Amino acid sequence: MIDIHCHLDLYPNPGRVIAEADARGAFVLAVTTTPKAFLGNVRLTEGRKRIRVAVGLHPELVASRYREVDDVRKFMSQTKYVGEIGIDGSPDYSSSLKLQIEVFSTILKDAEAHGGKILSIHSRGAATAVLDGIEKNLITSIPILHWFSGTRKELDRAIELGCWFSVGPAMLRGRKGRELLALMPRNRLLTETDGPFTSDGGIPFMPWDVEAALPIWADAWSCSISEVDRSIRLNLRKLLSTLDQPHAE
Ligand code: MN
Repeated sequence: MIDIHCHLDLYPNPGRVIAEADARGAFVLAVTTTPKAFLGNVRLTEGRKRIRVAVGLHPELVASRYREVDDVRKFMSQTKYVGEIGIDGSPDYSSSLKLQIEVFSTILKDAEAHGGKILSIHSRGAATAVLDGIEKNLITSIPILHWFSGTRKELDRAIELGCWFSVGPAMLRGRKGRELLALMPRNRLLTETDGPFTSDGGIPFMPWDVEAALPIWADAWSCSISEVDRSIRLNLRKLLSTLDQPHAE
């Protein structure tokens, strides 16, 4: 199982989640909301070969933490992964929208300057602004749009720009999420939980709970769960082999 967008350090007991994810053989990308958390996450996950750590600066924190963009750049030499980054266009964060766009574009440029990275990107209420940034700044990097919720037209543009997508059980609860999944390219899709920010009956989704998405996924693709599983694992392998660079891990 693969959880390509999980906030491992934000569970009440990260050590236990990490140990269990490792024991279950889950591949987890631990995204961070601030670069200050990067080294702590690296320490927490030390020796867990299938758990990787991304350096990020969450758009919802940009208003107060934009100065940390320099730290994002600094830690890029230590990881192949950048996230969570992006733009949030919802009313609560509209006052920082301009700053968010600037920070996002700076991070994308830095990722390119480092030879290209795998990026986990938030785009709630701001898909067009995010796609503008991707179109303008990315060449080598691979953008993964996490929990994409834009329009059909924005989805088409994202596909055209080469974006990947990560989808989880929370997104598939709604009809819109399921419709978007059906339209996404099958060879550029991965599973995610966005835990612990997502939950089921008040219990946060754990990385291995990505499996809850598979029956819905199989339905959208009109195939079996094992075919979905195989295809997602193949996608991960392709993703990981795409960017081979000296600084990886
Ligand atoms: Mn997230």
